[in-house]
Amino acid sequence: MKRNRARRAEKSARKSPSVGKEKWYAEGLKFTCTLCGNCCSGDPGYVWATKEEIRRIAKFLGRTDGWLGKEHLRRVGLRYSLTEIPDGDCIFLARDGDHPRCSIYPVRPLQCRTWPFWSEMLASEANWTHAGKKCPGINVGKHHSLDEIEAPRKQKKW
Ligand code: SF4
Repeated sequence: MKRNRARRAEKSARKSPSVGKEKWYAEGLKFTCTLCGNCCSGDPGYVWATKEEIRRIAKFLGRTDGWLGKEHLRRVGLRYSLTEIPDGDCIFLARDGDHPRCSIYPVRPLQCRTWPFWSEMLASEANWTHAGKKCPGINVGKHHSLDEIEAPRKQKKW
């Protein structure tokens, strides 16, 4: 899932997802990806990647220079984001089969690996429900326990 350009999203990401002491999702949440591809397309946004992640993707793609070119990577301030094609698709979203698919799935950045269990999604039930308007995998399918939600939410690297 791309991060929104809006500063509000960055701000809410810093909020604790707890209400009082008990997290609103203490009983767990349902999520199963339907492979729709919505999270890798749509409105402009960022797919942040660390240098380590960039090198991993470059290796996966067989690049001998160990880095990604401008067609795949852009600099945003001090950080790097994967690029998008003009219709909003992530540059690595392939639409050559029955389903859209991530062409770098085994080495996708942490941001993609941890969706939808991000702090900003979990900051409130309203945020989670709102995210479900774009992601049909939210609130359906597999039940994830509190521990299974908190592990990706707190993950800093993979
Ligand atoms: S179901 Fe959600 S996570 Fe899966 S591809 Fe669609 S938007 Fe992305």
